[in-house]
Amino acid sequence: MNLIPHVIDGRETESRQSSRFSTVDPYTRRPWAEVALGGREEAGLAVTAARRAFDEGPWPRMGYAERGAILHRLADLVEANIDELSLADTTDMGKPVSDTRGKDVPRSAYNFRFFADHARLSAAEALPMDSGHHAYTRFEPAGVVAAIAPWNFPLMLETWKIAPALAWGNTVVLKPAEQTPASASLLARLALEAGMPPGVLNVVHGYGPGSVGEALTRDPRVDRITFTGESATGRAIAGAAAANLTPVSFELGGKGANLVFADADLDLAASWSIKAIFSNAGQVCLAGSRLFVQREVYQEFLDRFIAAAEALVPGDPKDPATQLGPLASEEHYAKVKAYLDGVPGEGGKIATGGVGAEGLFVRPTVVLDAPPTARVRREEIFGPVAVVTPFDTENEAVAAANDTPYGLNAMVFTENLSRAHRVSAALKAGTVWTNCFFIRDLRAPFGGVGDSGLGREGGTYSREFFTEPKAVVMAIDTNR
Ligand code: NAD
Repeated sequence: MNLIPHVIDGRETESRQSSRFSTVDPYTRRPWAEVALGGREEAGLAVTAARRAFDEGPWPRMGYAERGAILHRLADLVEANIDELSLADTTDMGKPVSDTRGKDVPRSAYNFRFFADHARLSAAEALPMDSGHHAYTRFEPAGVVAAIAPWNFPLMLETWKIAPALAWGNTVVLKPAEQTPASASLLARLALEAGMPPGVLNVVHGYGPGSVGEALTRDPRVDRITFTGESATGRAIAGAAAANLTPVSFELGGKGANLVFADADLDLAASWSIKAIFSNAGQVCLAGSRLFVQREVYQEFLDRFIAAAEALVPGDPKDPATQLGPLASEEHYAKVKAYLDGVPGEGGKIATGGVGAEGLFVRPTVVLDAPPTARVRREEIFGPVAVVTPFDTENEAVAAANDTPYGLNAMVFTENLSRAHRVSAALKAGTVWTNCFFIRDLRAPFGGVGDSGLGREGGTYSREFFTEPKAVVMAIDTNR
């Protein structure tokens, strides 16, 4: 069986004790590769390597153009290895290859290109002062970045963190989710091939609590922690990081509201709403899991939505025609199933869907009549489960959408321009999409309010987090 190694200081290695764990293909439910199982020791070795590469190596001292050229080469290599990278994520987590190949890997390449160029173009800030002084800002790399990633968009979210960290001259220790280790080791190999010096990008595999993840968050030699995952994990990491006052950036869970008004283009609203909750089998932080539909069009919209949900094609994630794969793991399947089993007891009803007849599949599920207190309406299920509720007025819709501890994103479907702006302003969320979903400009702030996160990443927001901005003030002509 294949071995997925750590990559520490430019070398592919096993753990000291040669401990390993298996990564399981959720479609076949069989292990498909062995993974080097790291612990505190391997985390420490990786931080030592990253520290040395930062304190003594060329990476933080290179010009932006030189570093950028390496990141552009890496982007080219990611694209050239699209088959292997997309298959790695698809096999690890069951995401249809049409998604990993069509979206995740190309976006990963773009993350490197975008942040390489963005850093070069936004590296200077000059402030001529009326007093005859001249101030300027140096954006100095923060140091060693620990990047801790989830399993739902493995390569794409890992590169979303490490591309800006690297572009700004930091060195990185990446801990991929234990469910999806494969693409990260491939990426680290490609980084070396692109010319990145050893120790600049390290990958350590293992678990979170009491293991690699926690060790990284407690290590005083780490200067930044960027984390994407569950809100509860974010709280644990904040506690660990507090001891060293290590700055953190958190992208956490969500329970996205999707508001469809009677004046919406219903074809457009139905097609985006289907993507918003059923793509990647609903294992998306940004999923539009709470769907609120204005009563005048409720039945018409629901009929279209249910028909489109039932038409999605489940199957082997490696088949390019598959639209719906299995859930990513046995544990996660059990969690989603428990939510669905609880629906009738909470006063709701399942209009279509439910757990599939085979394997770890959950059919696209639509839940109706769930009261505001129902767990399916309040908690992040992270599965293909839409909870649909009618509303009468705009104020009622906004209040229902904001009735959540989360605030990652929301969607509004309306053809009324004033309403689009008014409702976008009233929604408590880091991103609001109007008449679309998942469209991103990497210059825009990305993050959540409330339990959905802390801080923002993207463009200059990533610059603020991954650098230590330093003010330099020079006297030029103080006799004026
Ligand atoms: P998770 O919190 O269980 O794990 C994420 C990572 O943290 C893994 O690598 C895990 O090993 C590590 N980890 C766990 N406990 C740790 C600890 N105590 N210290 C250090 N590391 C620890 O999340 P998951 O199940 O992998 O991912 C799903 C969650 O991620 C969902 O809640 C989803 O909404 C969220 N998510 C958010 C975004 C966003 O951009 N806001 C994007 C994707 C996923």
